[in-house]
Amino acid sequence: MAESAERAILHVDMDAFYASVERLDDPSLEGQPVVVGGLGPRGVVATANYSARKFGVHSAMPMARARRLCPQARFIRPRMSRYRQMSAAVFGVLGGFTPLLEGLSLDEAFLDVSGSLRLFGGPLEIARRIKQEIHRQTGLAASVGVAHNKFLAKLASDAQKPDGLVWVRPDEVRAFLDPMPIARLWGIGKQTAPRLRALGILTIGQLRRADETALQSALGNRVRHFQRLARGEDERPVETRRPDKSISHEVTFDTDIVEAGELLAELQRQTESVARRLRAQELMARTVVVKIRDGSFRTVTRSRSLRACTNNTRTLYRMARALFENWRAGHRATPIRLLGMGVSGLEPANAGEQSQGDQSDSRAERDIDRVFDEINRRYGDAGVVHGQVLRRKRR
Ligand SMILES: [Mg+2]
Repeated sequence: MAESAERAILHVDMDAFYASVERLDDPSLEGQPVVVGGLGPRGVVATANYSARKFGVHSAMPMARARRLCPQARFIRPRMSRYRQMSAAVFGVLGGFTPLLEGLSLDEAFLDVSGSLRLFGGPLEIARRIKQEIHRQTGLAASVGVAHNKFLAKLASDAQKPDGLVWVRPDEVRAFLDPMPIARLWGIGKQTAPRLRALGILTIGQLRRADETALQSALGNRVRHFQRLARGEDERPVETRRPDKSISHEVTFDTDIVEAGELLAELQRQTESVARRLRAQELMARTVVVKIRDGSFRTVTRSRSLRACTNNTRTLYRMARALFENWRAGHRATPIRLLGMGVSGLEPANAGEQSQGDQSDSRAERDIDRVFDEINRRYGDAGVVHGQVLRRKRR
């Protein structure tokens, strides 16, 4: 699919969603710093409102640290069913503007409004109407980014928060992206960013202009992917999906990969990111999905449900790995173009019930062991062989 500058993509993101809903339901929170998240000893901040953010509190931060930074804040345990209710109202509004609606979480969505322009006016007009209608129906504020692709729309919605509305036109892409720090690119994280900085690359503009071979040491086989993003190119379609049914992460490699170690390292990275997002939203997942696309564009997904929900990285990774190994056992030499990991069957995590969680994880581990057993039964020695067993056999 060729990228079209005529596509009109919106990214709608509710401002400090959980905290704003709490404020809506409790007028005594007006004007106060509000932090929503787990209140137990291992609790994590799900959302901080803007007045708490002024003290340095932000989402995914340990609650203990948030309490030190802003002791005067009101600390509130998440009420997921209430947020879900408000989210349904927001998505009801969005669905009135286009059926091409991709929910990313309870409070965030991409909309492809290319086909709705004639009905509602230009993309900016649609964005204005969406903000108005959300506010009228829920009393909440949203920020909206407008652009010709998802990547730019998402950055645009973040550029003027809260209550923002930013349109990045095709001829403004460089001016918009170039000064941004590299960490704003999807997939440039704590490991990659320092390697780029070591090369003197601090901004998206510097990454865009850098020599492809010079970037290899920092970005491996994802150089072209990141340089495309740095130029503001992103061809991914808006995929119709309701919010909160799944969380996933996937990567298309620049060159197909056969080496199992490299693939498993990527799978682990994806699982860590997915598990982190689950915990940040105080959710647990029942089903693990692995998506594999080979060099000739055949795509398979493998999924398995656990009997107990979890958001434990290790448990999720063991299941993802088992699913991958299961497929891999019959496709050892197949070059892989895309690898993805996701979870679905999401349920609110019950903060403060840690022992319950541990029990759930041991039950989940037994499910995983069963998958490994099944692989070994089906593939024998070609299947999954644990390291120690392998050594014994060689002797
Ligand atoms: Mg938001």
